[in-house]
Amino acid sequence: MDTMEMGVAAGVRPDATIVIVGAGQAGGWAAQTLRSEGFGGRIVLLGDEAHLPHERPPLSKSVLAGEAAPASTWLFKEAAFAALDLDWRPATRVSRIDREARRVELIDGEPLAYDKLILCSGGRARALAVPGAETARIHTLRTIDDAQRLGSVLDHARSLVVIGGGWIGLEVAATARKKGLDVVVLESQSRLCERSVPAQVSEHLLALHRTHGTRVVLDAKVKALSTDYEGRSTIELGDGETLQADAIFVGVGLVPNDELARNAGLECDGGVIVDTRCVSSDPDILAAGDVAVTPNHWAGRRLRLESWQNAQEQGMAAARSALGQQVDHQPLPWFWSDQYDMNLQIYGMPSATDRVVMRGEPGASSFLLFYLDGEVVKAAIGVNAARDLRFARRLIEQRKPVEATRLADASVPMAKV
Ligand SMILES: Cc1cc2nc3c(=O)[nH]c(=O)nc-3n(C[C@H](O)[C@H](O)[C@H](O)COP(=O)(O)OP(=O)(O)OC[C@H]3O[C@@H](n4cnc5c(N)ncnc54)[C@H](O)[C@@H]3O)c2cc1C
Repeated sequence: MDTMEMGVAAGVRPDATIVIVGAGQAGGWAAQTLRSEGFGGRIVLLGDEAHLPHERPPLSKSVLAGEAAPASTWLFKEAAFAALDLDWRPATRVSRIDREARRVELIDGEPLAYDKLILCSGGRARALAVPGAETARIHTLRTIDDAQRLGSVLDHARSLVVIGGGWIGLEVAATARKKGLDVVVLESQSRLCERSVPAQVSEHLLALHRTHGTRVVLDAKVKALSTDYEGRSTIELGDGETLQADAIFVGVGLVPNDELARNAGLECDGGVIVDTRCVSSDPDILAAGDVAVTPNHWAGRRLRLESWQNAQEQGMAAARSALGQQVDHQPLPWFWSDQYDMNLQIYGMPSATDRVVMRGEPGASSFLLFYLDGEVVKAAIGVNAARDLRFARRLIEQRKPVEATRLADASVPMAKV
């Protein structure tokens, strides 16, 4: 068997230079892993944000609420980060990859040679394509700076319109309500988080937000936006209604930052296509995190995961792969969201064609949905059911047949299922 078949990429010399583009979660963990795996060569970590590598989930929750400091999101304490001995360049943007010369170019023209390049450039908030969106005062949320800006707006505003009833929109809506703002959520689909959860869970989310006093408008078509000279915004809807608010937040998805890769001729399809070793169509360029499109046997297809778990694990996997270690990165997808006192978690890839078994009632404070292929659990969604989900995860990973009636019977502890 040759090394490619075994999932082993050609490694690097001990004195090689590994360049990482993007100092977010995947990039930070890639750099740390290179060192923890014993790589003593030069590691250049390039990130266009001014902050230490950090993770983003608290930015729409505790940091936005003002309950946690931005520094709480750092992946490593300053001393531990310094001990990694990186050539770390914050606030530094990479403008081009020259594959022939095996170097990247910084925005100021400085070239940096690499032996291996790891792209961890993540994504950015998708812009809203409606008249007025370019000139109206709109907030999005991706970075610490965005969270600080939005946080101070929420401290002074009395009303907020959230456009987009997906995870980030709903988390921002919950945080704003907790701060006492009047909140309206506008969702263009007929239910919330339509792409990732089934109707029962969408209903639960709708009830949760309405119970907390948020107006949620489904099937909402935003026709135009504007902000006047006093900072007051107007949102015109397709049905003729006009809303006014002190602030507008838009959470309508993510655009992967794959331009560097596309311009360099790497294979891309809504992100940088990599194999399960995290290697792109160029054997010396790897990618990880929100920007990477990877085969995943749990999904049965290639997919780009936007999750904390994948950013961390794929960043680590890409580092090990760059060093020539055997890597087969195909995690069981895991995602969570926190809104008010609700913790929702998803394991696996729920599919509309799977048989659904429920444990508990949607609408109750805690319940689970299992997605079965025959008698095998393929995915699970749990609301305030973190402990039971750990057992569900094991069921999914072990692919053992289970009796649906026992899964549905809340009197049978999950440990016994
Ligand atoms: C507000 C928010 C809340 C979230 N909550 C959850 C949650 O509850 N649960 C969950 O599972 N996931 C959550 N996520 C998703 C999770 O945080 C992301 O999947 C993860 O941050 C992706 O990490 P990454 O390293 O791939 O990208 P990022 O963390 O985005 O890092 C990419 C970095 O690369 C930089 N960059 C891009 N292009 C260049 C360039 N040319 N030169 C230099 N630097 C560049 C970017 O500016 C950025 O700093 C949340 C995300 C956000 C934004």
